[in-house]
Amino acid sequence: MKRFVIPREATSWVPVPADSHFPIQNLPFGLASPKGRNEAVVVAIGDFALDLLVLSEVGMLSEEDFPILDSFIELEGEALPALRRRVFEILSAENSELRDSKKLREKALIPLDKANLQVPIPPNAFVDFYSGIHHASNVGKMFRPDQPPLLPNYRHVPIAYNGRASSVVASGTPIIRPKGQTKGPNDENPTWGPTQELDFELEMGFYLAEGSEMGKRITTRAAEDHILGLVIVNDWSARDVQRWEYQPLGPFLAKTFATTVSPWIVTLDALEPFRIEGMEQDPPALPYLRQPERPHFDVQLEVWLQTPKMNKSEKIATSNMKHMYWSLSQQLAHLTSNGTPVEFGDLTASGTISGPEPHEAGSLLELSRRGTRPITLSETGETRTFLQDGDTLILTAYAEQDGLKIGFGECKGVVKPALD
Ligand code: CA
Repeated sequence: MKRFVIPREATSWVPVPADSHFPIQNLPFGLASPKGRNEAVVVAIGDFALDLLVLSEVGMLSEEDFPILDSFIELEGEALPALRRRVFEILSAENSELRDSKKLREKALIPLDKANLQVPIPPNAFVDFYSGIHHASNVGKMFRPDQPPLLPNYRHVPIAYNGRASSVVASGTPIIRPKGQTKGPNDENPTWGPTQELDFELEMGFYLAEGSEMGKRITTRAAEDHILGLVIVNDWSARDVQRWEYQPLGPFLAKTFATTVSPWIVTLDALEPFRIEGMEQDPPALPYLRQPERPHFDVQLEVWLQTPKMNKSEKIATSNMKHMYWSLSQQLAHLTSNGTPVEFGDLTASGTISGPEPHEAGSLLELSRRGTRPITLSETGETRTFLQDGDTLILTAYAEQDGLKIGFGECKGVVKPALD
């Protein structure tokens, strides 16, 4: 597929603040549900969400090419790249179609804080990989101190499990502290109650633009043509529940209570200028996992926390997508390598992305060394090992180079007390 990279010098007639995540070079897709209006597919530009349903209703977007823009359902495959091209045209500084129509412009441009952004595509399937090698190694050191940090299969097989799609929620959705079964090392019997070790996981996920039939596989070479774009994913985790339940079948209730996604699907076209080679794979991957050059993306990741006592959030960790051992193409190729079918809108997450440095941690489990070294928040002097009720956790991500910033917005959740 030929990538549509919007030239750096392109500008929009919509004002774009200097530090915005959404210049005209980005144009990510979302789903808005503004008060008193129809749910609609939107594209972010500056501080606005451009309502594509409004543009369709007045004929500015052809109904034949882009049918029904109240969801992504009819926009599989090639339609979305074509739609993004058309939106670029409409938003370009020199294009007058929408620019010069005050009434339509005011209706079509929804201020971001009024857009009420939803899960962009509610997925039917959610797979969570374990591609962050530093995270895998940190967790290995903590949980299996007498053994090598990585299990013997790690550099051969992209480890993953099938997560739960029904609890994928939009950024801003409150996260109710889950209850579960736990058993401390010195407890005789397990007990059931609210988790005491609620954590986040800093991940990036991709949505599928085009699926595959049962019995067919998607190769590493074809994989990116099947990827619609990326979102930030917070795979909320209950560590105490996880520790007790995860053997021998893997995580279950410790993960399925909630997964938050950021509202904007950032296309691989927009991320094209930020392609990198990424880390070397040693040993080389098996032939079915060998991949084209520069399969990774240089995307900076940040974690921000605000307790109820704080006036503003504080950055508690940073990381980068380059710390993934397995690329997006390898993840998708592996996922379909046995012939399982995948569908438009399936969500696949990377696994927690931590870096090699202590502050480059994608979870509180790592930041607080399994709860043994609490982090201190500078504004109030409060400490945290795991999340407490009322805490707000925000993940954000952006690629930046020579004045071009392609951002993802925020992936946010507030922890609420456990229910009776
Ligand atoms: Ca995870």
